[in-house]
Amino acid sequence: MVSASSDREGEQVALDEQAARAPIGTQDIWGEASRQVEAVVSTFAKHVELAGYGLLLGPMFEDARVFTRAMGHASEVVVKEMYTFEDHGGRLLALRPEATASVARAFVQHRPPSPWKVWYATPAFRYERPQAGRYRQHHQLGVEVLGSADPDLDVEVIALAERFVAALGLAGVSLRVGSLGDPACRPAYVEALRSYLASRAEACCAEHRGRISVNPLRVLDCKTQECRSVTADAPRLQEALCADCRNHQDRVLAGLDALGIACKLDDSLVRGLDYYTRTTFELSADALASAQNGLGGGGRYDGLVEALGGPPTPGIGFAMGIERLMLARLRPGAAGPPSDVGTSTPVFVVDMVGGSAARDLTDELRRAGIGADRAFGQRSLKAQLKAADRSGAYYACIVGPDEQARGSVAIRSLRDVMPGGERQLDVGRDVVVAELMGLIAATGATRAPL
Ligand code: AMP
Repeated sequence: MVSASSDREGEQVALDEQAARAPIGTQDIWGEASRQVEAVVSTFAKHVELAGYGLLLGPMFEDARVFTRAMGHASEVVVKEMYTFEDHGGRLLALRPEATASVARAFVQHRPPSPWKVWYATPAFRYERPQAGRYRQHHQLGVEVLGSADPDLDVEVIALAERFVAALGLAGVSLRVGSLGDPACRPAYVEALRSYLASRAEACCAEHRGRISVNPLRVLDCKTQECRSVTADAPRLQEALCADCRNHQDRVLAGLDALGIACKLDDSLVRGLDYYTRTTFELSADALASAQNGLGGGGRYDGLVEALGGPPTPGIGFAMGIERLMLARLRPGAAGPPSDVGTSTPVFVVDMVGGSAARDLTDELRRAGIGADRAFGQRSLKAQLKAADRSGAYYACIVGPDEQARGSVAIRSLRDVMPGGERQLDVGRDVVVAELMGLIAATGATRAPL
């Protein structure tokens, strides 16, 4: 628990260097980067709400057992990465390392009519080794549907993910789809894989050598050369699927094909968590290095709700990493950010008279739906125009003593975008809002609303 007792009350003590920085593996996202995150999130919201998904806001932390039960005591996330802590009431809580388990917990608690279709945008916390594209707090966008085992739902969910990424303008994205089987066919396969790997343990990478008996499936998606050579001839899950799982997979693949969504069948797509059954899928950016190219992924988890104490309820969903989407957008050849044209505050009010005039004009502009920022503290014209320029505004609206005496306001173009070619116009105070509206519409200065 955090203790502030070392800080003497009322005394200004500089934080030491480490405490004064964001914790390792976290970052402050602000300025243009946060604008882009906002655009990505709102694109996602529109995209999934069109398909009937509603926003779910849940707690950032849960009883730790929600995650250990859902993800498995032996899973990498639970063992090595979860931020677990005891609260003042002695409860063992954990910050969410992902959202699916929390959504399933919410389903068990509220028993909403199913299928329950929700989306979320949430931070996720994992104690990982920080590196490019891998953080201790990252942010996920995702959907979950609880209450239907229909393979058409798998198609809907995968299509949502694929088309969202396309809507962001990302090219060079690969979709891989696989199946993890179900309780009817997976146990026998896992046993066969375990004994195959056990006899070749020495050839596996150091990390997985010792984990073969606990979770042999993990070895299948290990990226090291050692494990890859060992698994090249390992028994294949595709060949071990039962008739129901095969039929399910065939229908999912046929559905994707019918929607024109290209994908590759991938036998090594085991995903990290215990709760997946049948369909799994991942989207990756071809241009990014393999340690950070996973944009998102998901799959079916037909046993999860039951594992959390609810009635047998199938489910499927996916999560995308916002930081990864941003990284992929920065690649050469990717579409420009949606926010690089226009600004949310095309007008900047410059106040050369003090008093109420600038305040009232700014308010009037905003109430008319025109994004407007302003200077405070009545600095020099030069300083205010500099601030106006820095704000990204297209027009400075100057409230000066001469203009005020005439009952007018000066509109100065900051970006040479006045349609008539003028740099500055003197406009009647009563028509300035209408005039600015016309100018902004004519020059596309306003960024599309988020
Ligand atoms: P997962 O819940 O592991 O399937 O993760 C879903 C997505 O979140 C991944 O495909 C990544 O895009 C992203 N992600 C997972 N872990 C991290 C991390 N430590 N830092 C940044 N993004 C992550």
